[in-house]
Amino acid sequence: MNFHEISNIDIIYRQLNDTVFPYPKDKTICQLFEAQVEKTPDATAVIFGEEVLTYRELNRKAGQLAYALHQNGVEKNGIIGLMMERSLEMIIGLYGILKYGAAYLPISPDYPEKRMEYILSDSKPGCLIGQSKTIDKIIGFHSKCINLNDEYIYELPEYSYADYARPNDLMYVIYTSGSTGNPKGVMVEHHSVVNRLNWMQRRYPVTHDDTIMQKTPFVFDVSVWELFWWSITGAKLSILKPGFEKFPQGIIEEVERSKITTLHFVPSMFNSFLNYIGSEDYTAKLLSLRQIFCSGEALTPAHVKKFNTLLGQKNGTRLTNLYGPTEATVDVTYYDCPGSGEIIKVPIGKPIDNTAMYILGESGLMPPGEKGELCIAGVGLARGYLNQPKLSDERFVDSPVCRGARIYRTGDYARLLPNGNIEYLGRMDNQVKIRGLRIELGEIEARLCEHEAVSQCVVVLKDVESINPVLTAYLLTADSSLTDKKMKMFLRNFLPDYMVPNHYIIMDSFPKTMNGKVDRNALALLKKSKE
Ligand code: AMP
Repeated sequence: MNFHEISNIDIIYRQLNDTVFPYPKDKTICQLFEAQVEKTPDATAVIFGEEVLTYRELNRKAGQLAYALHQNGVEKNGIIGLMMERSLEMIIGLYGILKYGAAYLPISPDYPEKRMEYILSDSKPGCLIGQSKTIDKIIGFHSKCINLNDEYIYELPEYSYADYARPNDLMYVIYTSGSTGNPKGVMVEHHSVVNRLNWMQRRYPVTHDDTIMQKTPFVFDVSVWELFWWSITGAKLSILKPGFEKFPQGIIEEVERSKITTLHFVPSMFNSFLNYIGSEDYTAKLLSLRQIFCSGEALTPAHVKKFNTLLGQKNGTRLTNLYGPTEATVDVTYYDCPGSGEIIKVPIGKPIDNTAMYILGESGLMPPGEKGELCIAGVGLARGYLNQPKLSDERFVDSPVCRGARIYRTGDYARLLPNGNIEYLGRMDNQVKIRGLRIELGEIEARLCEHEAVSQCVVVLKDVESINPVLTAYLLTADSSLTDKKMKMFLRNFLPDYMVPNHYIIMDSFPKTMNGKVDRNALALLKKSKE
């Protein structure tokens, strides 16, 4: 490569990454929320079925929870676990923890006990907060537990601790699948979320006329913009009843009832939703929808075309493809999908404010058209993985492009398109997605190998392109009596349901590649009849 070519590439990346924009970097989300409470105390903040909280009421209840935390002697700048279903209490819990200056750790009520045990022993929260439905699950795990359905909390004074968390303090720790057998906690700081939300508000502003639907389980980081964006802008949040996220009819009814304007889908669920509204022409019930954001997995031209026909062109709803890993605070690139015309590709677009994207190969920055690893720099980068300095150092590395900066290596393949957008080209490793949920196949394999009868195993995702991709485990074992049922029961001790393979196939040996490794592609292509 000669000097002339290198400088051209530099210019291309400089243009792509020209994203510097001021944001309230001296503030935390909690301070921004409280400033909004001052401005619109009596405006509706949160809707859950028939229950409603104004900004003032939410602020008060969150302050009362913060007082309860103080009364319990909980450490101020530590981590606090929250095990809740979607509910008003979940929102009070999140805002109360932030008011107390602590970081929240979301725990799914559906986690198996052993997973919960691991997460708690790794993160050592100062307290666990639940609701009547979940409190029995957390009592016994911690000496300090608070039930947010206990009436006494709402008789306490409000906590007025003026010394908040700092912008560089942790706002949350979200656990995501880990290839070595245990999940890993991603540590995200306030200022990263402030930048992410500030960008979203600049580009897709919401006002008091808007209602955002909260439907993503709070253990996944997409939930972060649903949970906090509205509260720093004067908009409203409508919480979808637990379980309704799986049923398009439930979502449609809530959109119509609460006049939802802003909604998120992972593309596979979006596809089911579009098929459903197409089947009965529900378009008229969705007139309030202004903007839909998709993220979590690849959005295809077929999705966009279907959307344009069913919603975009009829209702004027807009569709945006967002991309990003948990390690870089929710999303780092965006692409506004065209509302008409021929659609051949759906890129992941360009970086958001204060974010730089690089496509790196062995020789450095890749020129347009050439595939490399997608790497991220900027204010959204997480602090790292909790208690995992080695893994953090592997994924968050010194930037080879900008001296002194850090980049996060995503493990995603990508390339730059001639029009300056980034195109996502799949994974470099064994991380897969099912309905947008991130799974390291290595985590399932490590657990399977702990079974006394399993000597070796490989897990693959089959029918990746279909609506229902399935995990299949291939096993080497001397015990021919191992059944699907036994293996599922074993894995359910450690893994959430979506990570438990559907099928278990006993093999005599594994197919190998030319260089002697297990040929995962050959296993993925094995047909049921041949298994
Ligand atoms: P998570 O940390 O669970 O959000 O997963 C991040 C990973 O999901 C990324 O590294 C990508 O592999 C994938 N991903 C997220 N958004 C998109 C998108 N818009 N298109 C394609 N893949 C995506």
